[in-house]
Amino acid sequence: MKRKINARFVLLTVMSVVLTLILATMAYYELFKKEVLADLRSYTYVLQHAHVFDDLTAVQEYTLSDTDVRITLVDPDGAVQYDSQADAVGMDNHENRPEIEQALKNGYGEAIRHSDTIDRNLFYYALRLDNGSVLRVGKESGSIWSVFASIFPWIFGIGILLIEIGLILSHYLTLQLLEPIERMANDMDHLDSMTVYKEMIPFTTKIRKQHEDIIKNAKMRQDFTANVSHELKTPLTSISGYSELIENGMATDADVVRFAAEIHKNSMRLLTLINDIIRLSELDVSEQTLMTQEVDLYEIAKTCVNMLQISGEKHDVSINLYGTSCIINANREMMEELVYNLCDNAIRYNNAGGSVSVWVTREKEHVVLAVNDTGIGIPKEDQERIFERFYRVDKSRSKSTGGTGLGLAIVKHIVEQHGAKLEVESRLGEGTQIRVIF
Ligand code: ADP
Repeated sequence: MKRKINARFVLLTVMSVVLTLILATMAYYELFKKEVLADLRSYTYVLQHAHVFDDLTAVQEYTLSDTDVRITLVDPDGAVQYDSQADAVGMDNHENRPEIEQALKNGYGEAIRHSDTIDRNLFYYALRLDNGSVLRVGKESGSIWSVFASIFPWIFGIGILLIEIGLILSHYLTLQLLEPIERMANDMDHLDSMTVYKEMIPFTTKIRKQHEDIIKNAKMRQDFTANVSHELKTPLTSISGYSELIENGMATDADVVRFAAEIHKNSMRLLTLINDIIRLSELDVSEQTLMTQEVDLYEIAKTCVNMLQISGEKHDVSINLYGTSCIINANREMMEELVYNLCDNAIRYNNAGGSVSVWVTREKEHVVLAVNDTGIGIPKEDQERIFERFYRVDKSRSKSTGGTGLGLAIVKHIVEQHGAKLEVESRLGEGTQIRVIF
């Protein structure tokens, strides 16, 4: 970027210097032309008022031919009477020379003619005298090219000097332009206070957000690892403790059966935990490659509700399905998981004699899955957090019913991948409704 900006500045400098010099030369040449014509006019007036041409025979004696101006006297009919640099006798009629034609008509005339053979311009000024004849003064002068050639060393020198100054300035200007950006890159934590260019605000906002996200993700991963280790440690400690007791022969026969049951329960718990962790990491990985198909959410819910009947009976909770067939484009396996996790929670966090009603309906252009229960409810302050990994309102209740604290995290993940929305409505002691809006 630095090199690019610098190169543009340099190009701009060179272009403007060259262009300025060309234009300046042209302007200078215009002025120069005006000056030459003004000089010629002055000469002509001096000659007229000095009455030099009143007596032609006297004029012949002046050595006017030594100067670089050429003086010509032309009759009103165009015949040349006198020329300071040529013999008037042999010269052709000058009536049609533009400056003479103008002078005969208007009193004075001017002309510049270019001679390719000598690459010089011929400047003429002609004035009509009182007696009707025309006095013309001419001078040879360089063309724009010869003028340019004569001042070229100067122009070249000035051009090089200007370009050198331009190069140094562009170098510093580039550094100055980029300095805030470099400063920002070196200190991501204070982007906002350092944004000098308002055009960069969208970038800095985005970078800051990404930066925060990275930090948040790192923190989350750290927390997750700590949580996982902790969650795995508890059942493993139990398993190791009970098996050690059996190994040392410190357990009676009755104890052995009880300990074995504990070991079984804890290893089952470990399995569920590991399954959920694996599932979550799978969901993390497969974020981009979601395989979807047309599925009937009502059918999926029906299978799930049937599957959970036994669990419902065990908890003395009835579970029923309402609504109609609703086709959505989704990943079937994930939908089964989603409905299962929600219904499972609705049974596990219910009261004996309670009920769960699952609704699959269409509301305007959205398909809505609602799982309602008459359970213990979720306190207001926890409603936001229950979707976090390992977050549990009542840890012991969750554990005693085989919860891992990961079910709703998986639900949230699935919902997000399907571009759906989650809504929680819950009243402590009355029940909970969780809605997924597709
Ligand atoms: P768990 O495996 O502990 O059930 P979840 O992620 O499924 O983990 O749920 C997180 C927490 O949210 C639960 O521990 C529980 O406290 C609360 N929760 C979830 N569903 C319900 C519900 N239907 N009624 C009351 N509390 C619930």
